[in-house]
Amino acid sequence: MKKVKLIYNSGAGQSKFTYFLDTIIEKFMANDIEVLIYRAGERDNLEEFLKDSDNENLYGIIAAGGDGTLNRVVNIMMKYSIKTPLGVIPAGTSNDFAKHINMPNNFYECIDKILANNVKPIDVGKANDKYFINVCSAGLFTNSSQKADKNLKKALGKLSYFITGAKELFKFRPFSVKIETDEELFLEKINLFLIFNGSSVGGMTYFTSDSSIQDGLLDLVIIKNCSLHELGGLVANIMAGRSFDDKNVIYKKTKTISIQKLKGNCDKPDVDGDEGPDFPLEVTCIENGINMFL
Ligand SMILES: [Mg+2]
Repeated sequence: MKKVKLIYNSGAGQSKFTYFLDTIIEKFMANDIEVLIYRAGERDNLEEFLKDSDNENLYGIIAAGGDGTLNRVVNIMMKYSIKTPLGVIPAGTSNDFAKHINMPNNFYECIDKILANNVKPIDVGKANDKYFINVCSAGLFTNSSQKADKNLKKALGKLSYFITGAKELFKFRPFSVKIETDEELFLEKINLFLIFNGSSVGGMTYFTSDSSIQDGLLDLVIIKNCSLHELGGLVANIMAGRSFDDKNVIYKKTKTISIQKLKGNCDKPDVDGDEGPDFPLEVTCIENGINMFL
């Protein structure tokens, strides 16, 4: 009998996942797949549970949680070169990646999709020693998910990020960076930068509409220092899905990016919604890093 390793984060978001657990196990077993369950939490040993997962008897690794849970699983899989397919069930506060690969919101339909066994290699981003599947970023608004109060997050879900972000706006100061891509060098005073593996962030799917998690490239978006008024117009344009042609925006596709902070204050970069490594940053796209149920 084949097996799946199912990791779920019981504390994730406003999830009702645990109520469905028994039925989900039943569904796998009806398809002759045994389920090994791991409850991820603050003091677990997920690495121990996953590190020997590169074997033929394993049908897949399933992460039921948000982007944070997925990021943890991906980091362990990359560390141990695990090529067993990874499936994702959107059961967190922020499920940007699952949304990007069109996983259904309905848990049972997710299992159907995983059982259809459509496995494809996808890219993984690497920022210094930390892997990311969605985005690596720093500057204004970018670490609201880290900073949002736990209770606020539980009560309001993603709205808590916007509230936290809005509070930050008034004390934010731009910072100076040196950014090098495969082909260019930028010396700029900026509000923020975002490096996408090719997926959406914060629901802003329009942001990089032609980007892909299978093109071997990262999408770099730099928002330069600009007035609050200009920033407002910029955000409105992005939300409306209008073109990305703005004098305050630099947008490049590249395989590698190095970022040095030159002057000013900026919190540690954010990686998939959690605190990432500090500057200077060396970011690369690892082509076909993991296999995924799509
Ligand atoms: Mg890409």
